Amino acid sequence: MQLLDGKSLSQTIKEELKTEVDAIRQAAGKIPHLAAVLVGDDPASQVYVRNKVRSCEEVGFRSSLIRRPATISQEELLEVVETLNDDPDVDGFIVQLPLPAHLDEDAINLAISPQKDVDGFTPVNIGRMTLGLEAYLPATPNGIMVLLERYGIETSGKEVVVLGRSNIVGTPMTILLSRKRQPGNATVTLCHSRTRDLAAHCRRADILIAAIGIPEMVTADMVKEGAVIIDVGINRVDDSSRKRGYRLAGDVDFESVKAKASAITPVPGGVGPMTIVSLMMNTLKASQAK
Ligand code: NDP
Repeated sequence: MQLLDGKSLSQTIKEELKTEVDAIRQAAGKIPHLAAVLVGDDPASQVYVRNKVRSCEEVGFRSSLIRRPATISQEELLEVVETLNDDPDVDGFIVQLPLPAHLDEDAINLAISPQKDVDGFTPVNIGRMTLGLEAYLPATPNGIMVLLERYGIETSGKEVVVLGRSNIVGTPMTILLSRKRQPGNATVTLCHSRTRDLAAHCRRADILIAAIGIPEMVTADMVKEGAVIIDVGINRVDDSSRKRGYRLAGDVDFESVKAKASAITPVPGGVGPMTIVSLMMNTLKASQAK
């Protein structure tokens, strides 16, 4: 069984990005600048945003963290987005999700300029990706594509089953994997909460990608011998033996599934760090597009 070590691979890619940023700096070019908008005090979101900002610093990007209280109004948040759209100093920015319930995530997403949409969530980038045109690809699915490619995992002709159809993970994942180029060319099945006999679909998968948000739902009996398992889930599970009172669990029961898998991502340290490098790759691209 091969551990698909996203943490270590992300370090390698960050070194590569750092070399590129150093070269840009020496040529007196513009250093990539990523801004992140964090609304409210959601603990998981704070960790994600902190990791993104820290990663920027590691590779020599500029980064800005814009914090707003959970009580911010829709209009005020739209103003923040407009200011970032218009700021020539900012190459790309993200609005960390989820937003507090009174805010309309779709309306905020639609307000983000596609040229600065380094999360790859806006309709223009999703549409361009679907048509196979140059685009800022959604960070998590693209991070998984990079992981598969760098570990030399063949996708062409493979049966891939994706669990979860969110706009930011499951659905774009199916588009990237089924596109007519490498990596891609897979035969993809997309499963969701209305899927009948989920386990039967999973057992057909050469590559199984779980993005559901239910801790350890995928168990060994649902996995084909020798399958590649990509676990996107990041779930907090109560654990009184831990100082912080919880542990992080994926959507896959790692301990039982690893015995059957040919390769598997751990949680944490698998897809999460790849999402961040993918975001940074998009930001570098945005800074060079001008
Ligand atoms: P969403 O909650 O937006 O979507 C969950 C999907 O899972 C939905 O399509 C839902 O189906 C489906 N689903 C829920 N229950 C079942 C079930 N019992 N059987 C089959 N399908 C089910 O989640 P996200 O895509 O945003 O996130 C998924 C997980 O990935 C979460 O744990 C999240 O924290 C994590 N994540 C990790 C990232 C990373 O960088 N590693 C980045 C983003 C997310 P339906 O559509 O029918 O409701």
